[in-house]
Amino acid sequence: MFCPKCGSLMYPHGGKLVCHKEGCGFERGMTAKDSAMSRVLTEALEPPEPLVLDEIAGALPRTRIECPKCGNFEAMWYMRQTRSSDEPETRIYRCTSCSHTWREY
Ligand SMILES: [Zn+2]
Ligand SMILES: [Zn+2]
Repeated sequence: MFCPKCGSLMYPHGGKLVCHKEGCGFERGMTAKDSAMSRVLTEALEPPEPLVLDEIAGALPRTRIECPKCGNFEAMWYMRQTRSSDEPETRIYRCTSCSHTWREY
């Protein structure tokens, strides 16, 4: 889901993943994992389906943040892209220990 050339987020376009960064334009075919990930990133599922998250868990970045449920200090995260531009982007965290999922505004 991230461009191997420049590291920007790639977007699905016509069955392929395309890097939108100016001057890059890298493209590659979509895999099943990519489609699962774009589902999570673009659909308005609140909270996201745990099963879909499991599919893409290995591809998500991790960060050190305290889980409000179990106190574990590592979580995966991603940005939820909202449909309307006046809504702020939401960051979703998922604990790597207990799989608790929460949002930050
Ligand atoms: Zn790129
Ligand atoms: Zn936890």
